[in-house]
Amino acid sequence: MSDPKIVAAAPPLTIKRLVFEAYTTAKATGWLEGDANCPTQQLAWLGLIHSEVSEAVKPVRVGDMDELVLELADIVIRVASMSGAMGLDLHSAVRAKLDYNRGRPRKHGKLA
Ligand SMILES: [Mg+2]
Repeated sequence: MSDPKIVAAAPPLTIKRLVFEAYTTAKATGWLEGDANCPTQQLAWLGLIHSEVSEAVKPVRVGDMDELVLELADIVIRVASMSGAMGLDLHSAVRAKLDYNRGRPRKHGKLA
C-alpha cells in the first residue's frame, strides 16, 4: 500500500505531526474553507467525520478488513484536520482522556 522509501523518510507520526499533515493537506485541497470559529462550519466538519464513520459500515458488513482500516484512517485524518483548523490541542486532549479512561470503572460503572 505504501512506498517503503517514503515511509522510511517520513518523520515519526506523532499526534502533533498527524494534525499538522492532516490540516495542511485538507487546507490545500479545499476541505477546510470557511470560518473555523463558526459553529455552522464546525458542524459541517463534524458531518464529514460522520460520513467517514458511515463509510466504515460496509467493510464491516462484507468482512473487508483492508478497506475498514482505510476508513478508520479517514476518520482519524478528518478529526485531526478539524483540530488543526480550530487550533485545538488534540495531543493533550487524547493524553488526558487516555489517562482519565484508564481510571474509570468497567463500562464507566453504568452497565453490569
Ligand atoms: Mg473514506
